Amino acid sequence: MIEFESVRKEYANGTVAVQELSLSVQPGTITVLVGPSGCGKTTLLRMVNRMIDPSSGVVRVDGADVRDSDPAQLRRGIGYVIQQAGLFPHRTVLDNVATVPLLFGWSKTKARSRASELLELVGLPADLGQRYPVQLSGGQQQRVGVARALAADPPVLLMDEPFSAVDPIVREGLQDELLRLQDELDKTVLFVTHDIDEAVKLGEKVAVLRQGGHLAQYAAPDDLLAE
Ligand code: ADP
Ligand code: ADP
Repeated sequence: MIEFESVRKEYANGTVAVQELSLSVQPGTITVLVGPSGCGKTTLLRMVNRMIDPSSGVVRVDGADVRDSDPAQLRRGIGYVIQQAGLFPHRTVLDNVATVPLLFGWSKTKARSRASELLELVGLPADLGQRYPVQLSGGQQQRVGVARALAADPPVLLMDEPFSAVDPIVREGLQDELLRLQDELDKTVLFVTHDIDEAVKLGEKVAVLRQGGHLAQYAAPDDLLAE
């Protein structure tokens, strides 16, 4: 579903963010990229939806080299969730989520009803839809971010430290919710975190990265070697 083959990324200033890395992500699983800040996690994630292209090597989604696909088309099939949900501040919560189906040409009524379903799916009460993002807690905003990423029903979900900015108790709730959603929706999720406990809890497979963009281990949580 997602494959990195001998992928290397060197930024224009000479920083090598990822070294010759190969990794195959199994469809329908949560795969976690874990490692310290600066080890290349975000860079890898952004190569999947072509926010960044590799300097060499190939990234494939569903067997196709992402460089052969039109970025807009590619991104329709890839939801993206970031740390600070990145919601549109001047739109209601409901319209934040409805924006995506609207972009795809759905009618306003249909888009909003889909958005309501999605808010329910991520565990938000319906009346929150009429509020503005600033009126929500951090944890609620992240749920909206997840709902928006799911709006196009993409087979792939990229999640970049989505729960890192919320307090530990709320974070646990969000993690449980993601596991429940995954059970229900069967997405291919690539999840980035610097928190090994989160990685072990969420990942069916965990890729441990080291400074300089090296892949140190790639295994099921139970098979990870202590470092
Ligand atoms: P992580 O997500 O693991 O924190 P990143 O992928 O964000 O790591 O960054 C990997 C390395 O690449 C870091 O050293 C970072 O400073 C560097 N880097 C990231 N983006 C750029 C950029 N646009 N230009 C130059 N260096 C960058
Ligand atoms: P995060 O760690 O939350 O992903 P960063 O502060 O690493 O955020 O990066 C924020 C933005 O700055 C990203 O777009 C990243 O690509 C860019 N960036 C990070 N490190 C560098 C760098 N050394 N030089 C230039 N751009 C960078």
